[in-house]
Amino acid sequence: MADPRAKGAELLTALAGADQAEEWDRTGAIPREVVEELSAAGVLCGQVPEEYGGLGLSALDNGLLTAHAGTLCASLRSLMTSQGIAAWTLERWGTAAQRERWLPRLTGGATAAVALSEEGAGSDLSAMRTRVEHEGGTVRLTGTKTWVTGAAYADLIVVFGRYGDGVAAVLVPTDAPGLTIDPVPDPLGCRAAGHSFVHLDGLELDEEVLLPGAGGPLGFVAQSALTYGRLSVAWGCLGMISSCLTAAARHAAVREQFGKPLAQHQLVAGRIGDMVAAEQVATRVCEHAARCWDQGSAELVTAALVAKHVTSTEAARVAASAVQVLGSAGARDGRPVARAYRDAKLMEIIEGTSELCRLELAGQALVRRS
Ligand SMILES: Cc1cc2nc3c(=O)[nH]c(=O)nc-3n(C[C@H](O)[C@H](O)[C@H](O)COP(=O)(O)OP(=O)(O)OC[C@H]3O[C@@H](n4cnc5c(N)ncnc54)[C@H](O)[C@@H]3O)c2cc1C
Repeated sequence: MADPRAKGAELLTALAGADQAEEWDRTGAIPREVVEELSAAGVLCGQVPEEYGGLGLSALDNGLLTAHAGTLCASLRSLMTSQGIAAWTLERWGTAAQRERWLPRLTGGATAAVALSEEGAGSDLSAMRTRVEHEGGTVRLTGTKTWVTGAAYADLIVVFGRYGDGVAAVLVPTDAPGLTIDPVPDPLGCRAAGHSFVHLDGLELDEEVLLPGAGGPLGFVAQSALTYGRLSVAWGCLGMISSCLTAAARHAAVREQFGKPLAQHQLVAGRIGDMVAAEQVATRVCEHAARCWDQGSAELVTAALVAKHVTSTEAARVAASAVQVLGSAGARDGRPVARAYRDAKLMEIIEGTSELCRLELAGQALVRRS
């Protein structure tokens, strides 16, 4: 039987090669049929078990697939992250009926997004104001979510909101009356990732859309969603680092200044050496975190935080360095390193900013080591 990861990677390469990725970045959209084809092949959420039509990949294999997507197109990889978080949240926390209703769709052509952030609730999600009211078998949602990756393509949005003294996660189909989606205008990067505002104008749904645990603390469901997201972003950053390294090395080998290839100027070679080291470090932290996931290790939360923090910092640094190596040849839209430069910067903001990652890591160290 063909290796499902290899098949997934082949499909990604066929659908999202360099020319397509540049075109999507320019137009700000990935064709819907491409998204549907990747969903139907199970590629957007590779860890979903085979019983739900998924590829049933380990975290490590799914990570390698995600890194491959990251080498091609950060917007598409962002959709994989959102779809994966939604699918994992359903698999981990959903009822049997919720899993059976949605997981085969998410591996059968449908797409999903996850909405936590609001205008006044970014790093501080406890400031969330979206309300989830539950009365007489009906759930009512009111509020506005911001920067929801993939919402422009989504059939389902997992919406988090206030529920009594705690938080609830709600499975909201995007065709529900009272839900509207507006694009975030002119994003710096990941321009085809469908970032959107999601307005919930008192929309009413049957209570079966509530994930179990409603009214519990925010950390309950959100932590496992963020851990999946951090690991996925980390693998995507590894992909960006690899593609920037390749572009810089290829350019430096052939472009001549002062009578010899750039690569023979030591200040340029030094940049490429640093990129090799960054790729190695990123690979190791991603592999470690994925193994923690696959082995059910208690170290997973920390390992995913470290992986996301290290790889996003390195991806932003490597992409900037790759633009520098290419000089004016990398300084225009339509050049992969220019796209990576814009895309990579955003990776230091999502799934917990670099500052919040550092604070959380420091908090863990202070508990364990002081
Ligand atoms: C490309 C992209 C995709 C996204 N996708 C999604 C999505 O799919 N779903 C979703 O719900 N949200 C999404 N977001 C939102 C994202 O989660 C938030 O942008 C992020 O949590 C930061 O919040 P903020 O932008 O409001 O920044 P703020 O919280 O206002 O922070 C601004 C700056 O202040 C720093 N800061 C804040 N608090 C502290 C502190 N206590 N100590 C030190 N520094 C601090 C931050 O690190 C940052 O540098 C996305 C954002 C982007 C850019």
